[in-house]
Amino acid sequence: MTWLVVAVLVAGPVEAATAGSQVVLLTLPLRSAALAANLWALRTGRLSPVGSGRLFLAQAVVTTTAWSLLLGSTPTELTFETAAYGTILPIFALVIAPTEQRRWWSLAVVGVVLVPAAAGLLPGHPELFAQLLTVLAVHGLALATLDLYANRAATEGRMAAFDPLTGLFNRRPALLRLTAALRSVGAGGPPASVLVVDLDHFKDLNDTLGHEAGDDALRGVATALTSLVRRDDVVCRWGGEEFLVLLPETDAAAAERSAERLRAGIAATGVTASVGVAEVRTADTVTSWVGRADAAMYVAKEQGRDRVVTAPPVEGAEDRAVADRAPAPRSTPAIGPCVPTPLAP
Ligand code: GH3
Ligand code: MG
Ligand code: MG
Repeated sequence: MTWLVVAVLVAGPVEAATAGSQVVLLTLPLRSAALAANLWALRTGRLSPVGSGRLFLAQAVVTTTAWSLLLGSTPTELTFETAAYGTILPIFALVIAPTEQRRWWSLAVVGVVLVPAAAGLLPGHPELFAQLLTVLAVHGLALATLDLYANRAATEGRMAAFDPLTGLFNRRPALLRLTAALRSVGAGGPPASVLVVDLDHFKDLNDTLGHEAGDDALRGVATALTSLVRRDDVVCRWGGEEFLVLLPETDAAAAERSAERLRAGIAATGVTASVGVAEVRTADTVTSWVGRADAAMYVAKEQGRDRVVTAPPVEGAEDRAVADRAPAPRSTPAIGPCVPTPLAP
């Protein structure tokens, strides 16, 4: 990278030193190469947009200074070249950083400032024509870079947030939504509920029909879930054959009805699911909230699968049978239903 910085910074002074001679026609390509190298470094990720912008700016400042010192120009008797470097290129450097908001700004700079200036001066200064072409070419590259960044960001954003098999949200955005829902309830907002949906005997399905059939079943369940929830509900693939559904503005009773609808919808696709329901409590964290839905789902498994079990919405003794299962690791079988301990004889 050092060589690029040196090349960009040396191009201007070399050009200024040779101005007035025929050599200047050779230094124009040098400056063009320096600008192109800057853009190339930007496109290939060797320079960040901010780093690239700073380098453009540094080049403009160094070149302006070199022209002023070596040609004796003072600010009041600027040539077009020094004016270009002193005003247009710094602005250009500032607007070139590829962000969506700056796209039209940079076009405006080229259109409003550079083109009329060059048009007025071009007849007597053919070398300015080369400069104009350079700037326009660099500008085109900058816009292309902007698109490249936008596409890359969109792709990376999708990969970070969506499950590739089902197209559903993955855990990361779901956790953000759960946290937001928790915050809203904590601030006195309406209740919210969460469903943990775990497919039944899914390993057997894979073993008997094959992994591809298992994948098809997962896609079918995802489609069923998304078609049955409301617009503001959030469906996510929580892990393997497990889905999580966040139901904002829904208390436990309404969530249980939704869960029953989803369970029936899943059953219609040819697989069954056990569903745990939990309404958020004010003292909840995301872990404790989802943990209660998870524990309720395990109770549904114990009770025979293909059913919905709801964790009691209010903390209390009757809740203990479900709540006690929350911290249990997923590999540990859930404890059986609460049975009174027989009195010692
Ligand atoms: P249970 O009713 O107790 O939930 O039984 P189960 O077989 O569903 O549970 P278990 O956790 O033993 O097995 C889950 C299976 O889900 C094992 C794994 O191969 C399968 N699975 C997880 N992710 C995928 C996937 O992306 N595609 C396919 N085809 N199978 C998957
Ligand atoms: Mg599971
Ligand atoms: Mg399962």
